[in-house]
Amino acid sequence: MKLKIVGITKKYHNLTALDHIDLELHNGIYGLIGPNGAGKSTLMRLLAGELRPTSGNIFWNGKDIFKLDEKYKRYIGYLPQTFGFYKEFTGYEMLCYIGLLKSKDNIKKIRAQAKQLLNMLELSDKADAMTGKYSGGMKQRLGIAQALIGNPRILIMDEPTAGLDPMQRIYFKNLLKKYSSQKIIIVSTHIMSDVQELADHLIFLKKGRVVLDKSRDAALEES
Ligand code: ADP
Ligand code: ADP
Repeated sequence: MKLKIVGITKKYHNLTALDHIDLELHNGIYGLIGPNGAGKSTLMRLLAGELRPTSGNIFWNGKDIFKLDEKYKRYIGYLPQTFGFYKEFTGYEMLCYIGLLKSKDNIKKIRAQAKQLLNMLELSDKADAMTGKYSGGMKQRLGIAQALIGNPRILIMDEPTAGLDPMQRIYFKNLLKKYSSQKIIIVSTHIMSDVQELADHLIFLKKGRVVLDKSRDAALEES
């Protein structure tokens, strides 16, 4: 399984957010870092199929993701920077709904996974409350749960640890590590300890360009 990014440029009017990016991603955890405005969120939105590039291509196992479109999106678990909820759904209903859209698992399996995720993210108490009533931190955790449900092959998470307390952060990191041999996982973060503990590879973006693309061990040896 491979995601190949070839010559991706993204412009917003006359601002170049990404400038000829080439990357090849395999199973494992990629830490996406760089200053504000470097293009991290833009790259993640493109990889999630939510945004179209100005030029260039992204291939999933050799197929253009924008041609696969909805089929590709089923392989993706995506935590955007701000997650839009179905306010009239409970947390549990929303997870089951998204799980059914994305996975071929039967409803029994999806329900079990939804309960497990709610439990792990300490949302079990509020499983039956409308998501419109959730606090900011709870929304963040439900956002993580909706990215994970259905066992997607590609996980794209924009600052996932931001709303987590220290214990939840540890659970979350352990969970990602458990999945890392079976999924392509891309995580942006400002927290250097997250990168050190989590990422197998580092991608450093600056002004829309990749200035570093290395395995974590190689990058740490040099610094
Ligand atoms: P960050 O820099 O932490 O990724 P931003 O605050 O820049 O986040 O962006 C938040 C949202 O606003 C995103 O959806 C982004 O696409 C949008 N956005 C960012 N900059 C602009 C801009 N100059 N004009 C319009 N929308 C923008
Ligand atoms: P990062 O996530 O690294 O902070 P972004 O991808 O959010 O970077 O933004 C890269 C650049 O593109 C920034 O200059 C930002 O203001 C701009 N930008 C992001 N989204 C939009 C948007 N929807 N419209 C216009 N400009 C945007």
